[in-house]
Amino acid sequence: MQHLHDDALALLALGEEPSAEESAHLEQCEQCRTEISAYGRVVRAGRSTVPDGSVPPTAVWAGIHEALGLDPSLRRDPLEDQQEQDPAEAAGRSPGPAGPVSLAEERRRRRGTKWLAAAAAAAVVAGAATWGVVRGLAPQPEVIASVPLEPLPSYSDEGTATVDLLPDGERELVITSSSSDADGYREVWLISPDITSMVSLGEMEGTEARLKIPEGLDLSAYPIVDISDEPFDGNPEHSGKSILRGQLEL
Ligand SMILES: [Zn+2]
Repeated sequence: MQHLHDDALALLALGEEPSAEESAHLEQCEQCRTEISAYGRVVRAGRSTVPDGSVPPTAVWAGIHEALGLDPSLRRDPLEDQQEQDPAEAAGRSPGPAGPVSLAEERRRRRGTKWLAAAAAAAVVAGAATWGVVRGLAPQPEVIASVPLEPLPSYSDEGTATVDLLPDGERELVITSSSSDADGYREVWLISPDITSMVSLGEMEGTEARLKIPEGLDLSAYPIVDISDEPFDGNPEHSGKSILRGQLEL
C-alpha cells in the first residue's frame, strides 16, 4: 500500500481538508492516521505557547534551525506564510478556480509543506514542542568561583561576587550588593593579595552588575573583589573608601 507523503501528513495535521483520495486512504490506514495525530500534537503544542492568532517571529525558527544543526535547505521559516501574507497572492487565491492546480502552484505547495514537516520533526527531536526550546538548548555559564562580600567598617552592606565562564570563553564577574548607597558612585575592582596593584572592571549601578573580566587577566594574581565609593572628582584611582570586599578562592 502506498502511504501518504510526509508533506501531505503535515498539511493535514495543520487542518487542511483531505482530498477524496487521501480520505479513502486514511479510512483504511491506521499508520497514516497515527502520524497525522503525532504531527498535530506538535503543531498544537507549538501554537498554544504563542498568543491566539499570532505566529512566532522568524527568529524563532532561525534559532531552532541553528540549535538542531538542520540542513541549510530547511532554513526558510515554516510559518513564514502566516506571518505576512502577500495581499495580492491572498486575493488571487481565495476565489481561485476549483480546477487542477498549476504546476507552479503545486511546486510551491510542495516546497512549503516540506518545511512544515521539518518544523514538526524538529520539535519532536527537541523533545519539547514549545518555542522555549531554543533557550533550553543554549549552553549555560559555568561558575569558576564565588565568594560572599563583607562590609568594611562603617558599612553594613552585604553582597556576593561570582566569576562566570561563558560558553564563548569570556569571563564575567557577577556582583550583588544589598544596597546601592554611596556618596559618589560605586566602582568594582580586582586587587592583588598585597593590595599593591588593581584593575577597575567598571561602575556598578543598582544592586547587581555583570562586568567583563579582561581577556588574559590572571585572576589568581587579582583575587580580591572590592566595591568602592568614588567621588566625582575625575581621578581614576581607587578612592580608598571600600564598601564591600571578598577574596576569591581560585
Ligand atoms: Zn498509510
